[in-house]
Amino acid sequence: MRYDRLYLSPPHLGRHELNYVNKAIEDNWVAPAGPNLTGFETDICAAAGVPYCVALSSGTAALHLGLLLLGVGPGDEVLCPSFTFVATANPIVYCGATPVFVDSEAETWNMCPVRLREAITDRLARGKKPKALLLVHLYGMPALLPELLAVAQEFDLPVLEDAAEALGSAWQLQPLGGFGHIGVFSFNGNKILTTSGGGALVTYDRALAERARFLATQAKDEAPYYQHSQLGYNYRLSNILAGIGRGQMELLDDRVKRRRQIFNWYREHLAGLPGLTVAPATERPGSHSNRWLTTILLNPAETTATPESLRQHLETHNIESRPLWKPLHLQPLFADAPMYGGEVCADLFERGLCLPSGTAMTDEDLRRVRAALAEHLQQATA
Ligand SMILES: *Cc1c(COP(=O)(O)O)cnc(C)c1O
Repeated sequence: MRYDRLYLSPPHLGRHELNYVNKAIEDNWVAPAGPNLTGFETDICAAAGVPYCVALSSGTAALHLGLLLLGVGPGDEVLCPSFTFVATANPIVYCGATPVFVDSEAETWNMCPVRLREAITDRLARGKKPKALLLVHLYGMPALLPELLAVAQEFDLPVLEDAAEALGSAWQLQPLGGFGHIGVFSFNGNKILTTSGGGALVTYDRALAERARFLATQAKDEAPYYQHSQLGYNYRLSNILAGIGRGQMELLDDRVKRRRQIFNWYREHLAGLPGLTVAPATERPGSHSNRWLTTILLNPAETTATPESLRQHLETHNIESRPLWKPLHLQPLFADAPMYGGEVCADLFERGLCLPSGTAMTDEDLRRVRAALAEHLQQATA
């Protein structure tokens, strides 16, 4: 069946997911942790180039455990980009800590290393050292890792890497997710691969992985009865969903290749449209983005169209598009959180839009999006 509506980034299943799910049902092993879960974790380790992985119920759960493992607790501050999905920052609050937001740079749209240093220096001057640095690779684009990691090292800050959107992206041939003390992936329905809902935590540190597994399964002490000395969570992924994940992991290279093709198609074919640029356009040498979503910016000097007018116009053609993430320092939820800079990400939010980027899209679908964009932009510039 073909959907008439073009969605932003719908799930795209392959051929083998059902085999793994069927096997779990035939073996009556839908729970607890079983062979699919172990297999899925092994697949993620291979893809991320890290030795340990714990599959969890969501990326949000993985971020929560990641922060706990880095010792984040009540009263602490955690450095976090403002320009990201709210799920990056919410787990900071779950820990009783406060996010300290940092603006983006214009090249990758991720955390600005200059602003990061400014934020740390100012927090130190105010008498509190941030507990950790939470990095994000937005829309799959690698952040400026050498610069950011140098600042983290200089101030001796542990790094939690939110690679929820960046499975399959790399920096200098090393997959993202393995650059921090702990990395996080999401397998939510809109991501490049999906288990319908799911996440994973990866690390080089065996003890951290064991502790993550312990906390994710209600923190049960080693005893024949149910004894608990610490607060735990129910965050483990099911053996059924991990089966979907195993089938999906087989497709990672293909899916990245197709997302990149879609991005390149848009970049080539939207080049002549007045006031529109596909961005962030270039990857630095060594940077390899999975191009999870293709995003565009409008230039108000060249068009009267706005992201919202464009979004509504696409909607009349039954095409889904979405504004870029609204910066977290502009969210009512985080009105009181400290923010360093803010102009760069606020400007991106005002001028940007995400286009349909699902890997099942055909070239005909892409042409349909282009035609709808062109129609509106030509009207808006006439
Ligand atoms: C999707 C996403 C998350 C959360 O992942 P879930 O699996 O949906 O909980 C976290 N951070 C970013 C940047 C995301 O895009």
